[in-house]
Amino acid sequence: MNVELLKHKLLEYSKTIGIDKVRITTADPFLSLKDRLIAHQEKGYASGFEHPHLEERIDPSLSLKEVRTIISIAVAYPSKLSDSPKRVKGERRGFFSRSSWGIDYHDVLNDRLKKIEDFLMQECGSIETVRMVDTGALSDRAVAERAGIGWSAKNTFIIAPELGSYVFLGNLLTTIPFPVDEPIEDLCGSCQKCIDACPTGALVEPGVLNAQACLSYQTQTKGFMPEEYRSKIGNYLYGWDTCQLVCPYNRDQDHHQHVEMEPDPEKIKPLLIPLLTMSNKAFKKEFGHMAGSWRGKKPIQRNAIIALAHYRETSALPTLLHLLTEDPRPVIRGTSAWAIGKISESKTEKKALEDAKLNEQDEDVKNEIEKGLAFLKQKGE
Ligand code: SF4
Repeated sequence: MNVELLKHKLLEYSKTIGIDKVRITTADPFLSLKDRLIAHQEKGYASGFEHPHLEERIDPSLSLKEVRTIISIAVAYPSKLSDSPKRVKGERRGFFSRSSWGIDYHDVLNDRLKKIEDFLMQECGSIETVRMVDTGALSDRAVAERAGIGWSAKNTFIIAPELGSYVFLGNLLTTIPFPVDEPIEDLCGSCQKCIDACPTGALVEPGVLNAQACLSYQTQTKGFMPEEYRSKIGNYLYGWDTCQLVCPYNRDQDHHQHVEMEPDPEKIKPLLIPLLTMSNKAFKKEFGHMAGSWRGKKPIQRNAIIALAHYRETSALPTLLHLLTEDPRPVIRGTSAWAIGKISESKTEKKALEDAKLNEQDEDVKNEIEKGLAFLKQKGE
């Protein structure tokens, strides 16, 4: 097998199937990552969404015994929405971060990797491969960094000089001894705009993220959101974009070459109030194809309630009062109580909160009702 020629053919083929950059790295263990991952865990910076086995995160051969090289791919996604829904007074909208625009990137990149697999099978016959997109054992970013897709930036994203950091990454482990590429130079230099712009200080040092304090992570949890973050997420329903938006390398990056990544304005900026009472079936139909729906309906609805509180949207009060007494989920009842206190300036809602407190059994919800009542008290109610 002429691996030089095969690599050349692979690079040419990848351009025809909607891949923006391909690089190849060795299958050596990611030894320098090990200490960083252990320290990250020990300091409590992990999100809990990571692959659970440390050794598998480090050593590619634990995913594919005879692995020789890893193909790293990058697919760019858009950063700008050209046809935003029209503003209508009282119609408040939420926002899904850019990583959730279009069809779930896990599906899109898996499809691209499958095509590469088929191509290599056709060219070489019997080879073994393993696909990974985000949820695999290996860190997509560590692979992309070593393969030279981009550098590992201070905001923890991979920045490809020609694409910026709005890229989804995927890996294909192979048993083919391809010639490998080299890492590229880190061009962050003395810039630290992302660190300065992070509203929670989650970028604790260059390239180190305390995921627990990251607003993207906070939008994805299923319990009550700690109060300190509620005032910071604004109208975000999923994810967070600030650390990418402020990056100078993303300034002119807005890629629309992949039809699957194109955002549907009504989906990425949905109306908030209808979202609050949406059935599971309707939620799945509306948002099930998006990466941002992976944690289900509850976190999105909780965040929608927080967004309505952010807007002080009084027309949401009837729905929030309904949720306060009727919703079976404590997180939704409690967050509604908190939001009612934030939004309302009337005795009617004060009475409703007091009544709800008498009937409420859940301690966390009672606590949120207290917070709602305290807001009303501050406003003189
Ligand atoms: Fe690097 Fe500056 Fe971009 Fe942060 S904002 S990733 S420091 S170039």
